[in-house]
Amino acid sequence: MDERLLPIWRHVIARNPGEPEFHQAVREVLETIGPVLSKRPEFARQKIIERICEPERQIIFRVPWEDDSGEVQINRGFRVEFNSALGPYKGGLRFHPSVNLSIIKFLGFEQIFKNALTGLPIGGAKGGADFDPKGRSDREIMRFCQSFMIELYRHIGEYTDVPAGDIGVGSREIGYLFGQYKRLTNRYESGVLTGKGLSYGGALVRKEATGYGLVFFLREMLKARGESLKRKTCVVSGSGNVAIYAIEKAQQLGAQVVACSDSGGYVYDPDGIDMAALKEIKEVQRKRISEYAKLRPKAKYHPGGNIWEVPCQIALPCATQNELNARDAATLIKNGCIAVAEGANMPTTPEAVRTLMAARIAFGPGKAANAGGVATSALEMQQNACRDAWSFEFTEQRLAAIMENIHRQVHQTSEEYGASGDYVTGANIAAFIKVAEPMVAMGLI
Ligand code: NDP
Repeated sequence: MDERLLPIWRHVIARNPGEPEFHQAVREVLETIGPVLSKRPEFARQKIIERICEPERQIIFRVPWEDDSGEVQINRGFRVEFNSALGPYKGGLRFHPSVNLSIIKFLGFEQIFKNALTGLPIGGAKGGADFDPKGRSDREIMRFCQSFMIELYRHIGEYTDVPAGDIGVGSREIGYLFGQYKRLTNRYESGVLTGKGLSYGGALVRKEATGYGLVFFLREMLKARGESLKRKTCVVSGSGNVAIYAIEKAQQLGAQVVACSDSGGYVYDPDGIDMAALKEIKEVQRKRISEYAKLRPKAKYHPGGNIWEVPCQIALPCATQNELNARDAATLIKNGCIAVAEGANMPTTPEAVRTLMAARIAFGPGKAANAGGVATSALEMQQNACRDAWSFEFTEQRLAAIMENIHRQVHQTSEEYGASGDYVTGANIAAFIKVAEPMVAMGLI
């Protein structure tokens, strides 16, 4: 790390004790942006980095609700509004028992840079709750979402803060949240949430956007090395929203995806993952990935298995943070992997990133590679603002163009700063400059 940034780093640790995921996300950015300070000394003078590391606002609240047996349950809700230099705060809500302030802050911090890379006018935020939706009935999910919104509604709005989905929050939850917001405010404010159902202001391609966008970005990374997705063996971790549509697009572009997972284990299907079976199990029945092997005779379920041991040329971690460690990276390299692109946020540990990059594997960091979801959310906001609805083809073309543009910017920036092909450095520097410039222009905010 540049020695000018060390005191900032130490201050972040001292000021935010017990938040390892947040520290990790900040460190990853600070380790790469040193060279910008030499070219743009005004950023140091104006203490832009110190300001970016401090959220503009953090909200923590109680979420009481009643389960189906009449028992009172209490969860903790969060919304961290990190940076609004580029536009209203924007970022998803995560419902998962592991959610805590550190996780929400790491996600919110990453979101600032990711959103900047899209080139669209959106600031960065993240939120959620330590609520576990697994095994809960629809009525329980609805009651939880309604109680969550009773506090959240006063902090959000189409010009203020626009949440969306993330782990555990899909269109069902967004529907309950939107309904409660509408009821509390007496306003049909479509642009207050994204990821809505198509029948009430949602946008085509939003559901597919993160996974599709990831594969569009991957296609550009491979193209830059004279490669393509055709006939490549691919492994995708997770089997949620991002994973399902990454698998779909990778297969459409000629790759063969042979494995995917959930937190219980992974399935290996030598014939390639069958999309109809996967969607039926995960989207319709909401069951475990182990069910997949029951529908496909050649598929095998590996309970508790490590998906990164499946030989592949392309690995797409699409489940959760720190799911791919240095040992996994070494296994991937040994098995002939040529590219890793992050569909999830920070799924690759710092040691694993270093291992992959040292082996000259093409590595696409989540900030750039999974920005297609939030970019399409911004397109949903555009459609809501002009009461319009675009076709699937048109929206997908825009998504593809945005991902190509992100790749171009990141690649060019890596070259400009003497780190050609290092997408981590390219993404962090390109995004940092985009946020720093308006912060300087707006004075002390
Ligand atoms: P979903 O809830 O739809 O799916 C998450 C998947 O990851 C599930 O298969 C889940 O398995 C698995 N998973 C979650 N936590 C763990 C864990 N601790 N260990 C192992 N597996 C786990 O979430 P999304 O697909 O929306 O999100 C996946 C990742 O992508 C997250 O990092 C998210 O922040 C990121 N992302 C999402 C975007 C979006 O548009 N949805 C946009 C950009 C990034 P199980 O069901 O067993 O828990």
